[in-house]
Amino acid sequence: PVLDELLARLVADVPDFPQPGVLFKDITPLLADHDGFTQVVDALAAPGRDETGATAVTKVLGMESRGFILGAPVALALGVGFVPVRKAGKLPRETFAVSYALEYGEATLEVHRDAVAPGERVLLVDDVLATGGTLEATRQLVSRCGGVVAGVSVLMELAALGGRAAVSGVEITSLLTV
Ligand code: 5GP
Repeated sequence: PVLDELLARLVADVPDFPQPGVLFKDITPLLADHDGFTQVVDALAAPGRDETGATAVTKVLGMESRGFILGAPVALALGVGFVPVRKAGKLPRETFAVSYALEYGEATLEVHRDAVAPGERVLLVDDVLATGGTLEATRQLVSRCGGVVAGVSVLMELAALGGRAAVSGVEITSLLTV
């Protein structure tokens, strides 16, 4: 309830951004609010813990760009390292790459080949689950590295876009479903 109130108050609806017909959820007011940001990071970290509260993952992966802003503090809260999943051409060393369709346009995501070790259990963090393309591509990248997606944390799920069904075989935790 506290979290619901925070998200309702601090996530702004922006019609027709970045193109006509898209209702964009702008999280920048939430990031600018220390209490809101703190509570959201705590809640996003929870799926990375076991029943006793102990950390159950060895890395947090965040997807460019808002997944960096949320994922990095989640990694620190869990006491593990952070791995950036980046758009094509940004990472300097050998990568795995997966292409996918976006809600608007198309994209390729990459991760450094050695960023996730075989058998490593990781938590994925992003702001919005829309069509699920971003999360499914990231799941495939983790799989290419030989890692396991132990959980997925998103701030918000746009349920009408059916993204949950597009991400196979992983548990997704969303702080708010709209
Ligand atoms: P999907 O791949 O699930 O279609 O889209 C999710 C990705 O697009 C996420 O990385 C997210 O940051 C971005 N995205 C899509 N729609 C929105 C939106 O309404 N608000 C924000 N902040 N990000 C969005």
